[in-house]
Amino acid sequence: MTDVSYDAIIIGAGIIGTNIGLELARKGYRTLNVDKLPAAGYGPTAESCAIIRVYYSTLDGSAMAYEGYFDWKNWPAYIGVEDERGLAHFHDNGTMIFKTERNGYLARILDICRDLDIPFEEWDRDRIATAFPFYSLDSYLPVCRPEDDGFGEPNGEKVSGAVFFPAGGYISDPQLATHNLQRAAEAAGGEFLFNVSVAEIMQDNGRAAGIRLEDGRVIWAPVVVNCAGAFSHKVNEMAGVTGDMTITTKPLRQEVVHVPVPDGIAYGRETMVTSDSDIGVYSRPELGSHILVGSEDPECDPREEVDPDGYDKTLSEQARIQALRYAQRVPELGIPNQLQGVVSVYDTSDDWIPIYDKSALPGFYMAIGTSGNQFKNAPVVGKMMAHLIAACEAGRDHDSDPVDFTFEHTGRTVSIGFYSRKRPINTSSSFSVLG
Ligand SMILES: Cc1cc2nc3c(=O)[nH]c(=O)nc-3n(C[C@H](O)[C@H](O)[C@H](O)COP(=O)(O)OP(=O)(O)OC[C@H]3O[C@@H](n4cnc5c(N)ncnc54)[C@H](O)[C@@H]3O)c2cc1C
Repeated sequence: MTDVSYDAIIIGAGIIGTNIGLELARKGYRTLNVDKLPAAGYGPTAESCAIIRVYYSTLDGSAMAYEGYFDWKNWPAYIGVEDERGLAHFHDNGTMIFKTERNGYLARILDICRDLDIPFEEWDRDRIATAFPFYSLDSYLPVCRPEDDGFGEPNGEKVSGAVFFPAGGYISDPQLATHNLQRAAEAAGGEFLFNVSVAEIMQDNGRAAGIRLEDGRVIWAPVVVNCAGAFSHKVNEMAGVTGDMTITTKPLRQEVVHVPVPDGIAYGRETMVTSDSDIGVYSRPELGSHILVGSEDPECDPREEVDPDGYDKTLSEQARIQALRYAQRVPELGIPNQLQGVVSVYDTSDDWIPIYDKSALPGFYMAIGTSGNQFKNAPVVGKMMAHLIAACEAGRDHDSDPVDFTFEHTGRTVSIGFYSRKRPINTSSSFSVLG
């Protein structure tokens, strides 16, 4: 690095920060992504389940996810350069979500999909059994914990059906996807600085002016973007911008368990993702003939706020509970004594919908509160934030006159104001990882 001034500094090189760096660089900004970790996408992004799905509880959420699907589908074209490590592979197998009382039998989500022309098929139990012959279709609601009466006991009903979304799947290597974005950003002139921690947001004349690193170095830029993931609140405090925010962010610990595929069942890399609120878990294929089982945050499970600098990274009883819940659907599932999986952290907003916005400090922006559900949206967020930053830097007051953004693939125009830091809590949200 020979220069100490840039057009824009992005704090964080997770999938969101790296994608914003790429899109700003493609607009001609001289960008620098800084991260205290040694590589792009090395933190929670690397631990992401990286499921690409199109159903959210809000129209804006689904519209953005459907737009993002096309970037994953056309990943080599979107990246546009070679990566010596190869390109991330999108397992484009679709996703299946069960209809349950908890999700209102998906009536609202299907209305949203009709509005957005998102393709879907409604499946009855026979069709589900064709796709998943090893599934028990008993219902287990309400989702509960092993210490509760009736845990693991069917309630006498059957699941009522499911919806299959062909547009969806998963990325098996989310860190590689982020590395691909880094290489694309570098090809557009973007720079990256790793193993450095931002300690202060520099200000000059009432606006952001750069960053001071923990080692004392100062790097100047008129635009600074907070993409610090679970550290987002700390970085906002450094900038002194929390005062006008109605939505706050906090780090929540999260466990994902990987269980072996039982002998004799047809479950492989091309099996589709499932979302199953009847048992409170989602699943997808995982490397090494495993099934990944994540939590849909049922109300009975505690939500554990942690310090992102030092939380317990060992799997706990929660991982076993998720495996036991999945065993309700797959009776052949064997649960090893020694469980494998990941422990990570979500940067959760009050309504589990992200904040993509400017701030009270001119020149300081934020793409935070991704709430365990924004990996899939990173390419859209990159483009949308670059558009927002360009508009605000050209003098637009986004708070009083929200900036619109038109999606490249679906052609839909949305208001970026939906993601405002000053919005009221969005009561349409699922208040869970489903967004
Ligand atoms: C277990 C898990 C499962 C998930 N599953 C899915 C899924 O299936 N589908 C989906 O769409 N989304 C999913 N998500 C969410 C998705 O992975 C995240 O929304 C996304 O990775 C967030 O990216 P980010 O760049 O904002 O944050 P991060 O990856 O956390 O990156 C932030 C970076 O900022 C750096 N940083 C912070 N503070 C500083 C500082 N002061 N100085 C320098 N660097 C700093 C950190 O080191 C870090 O690398 C999941 C998340 C988790 C944890």
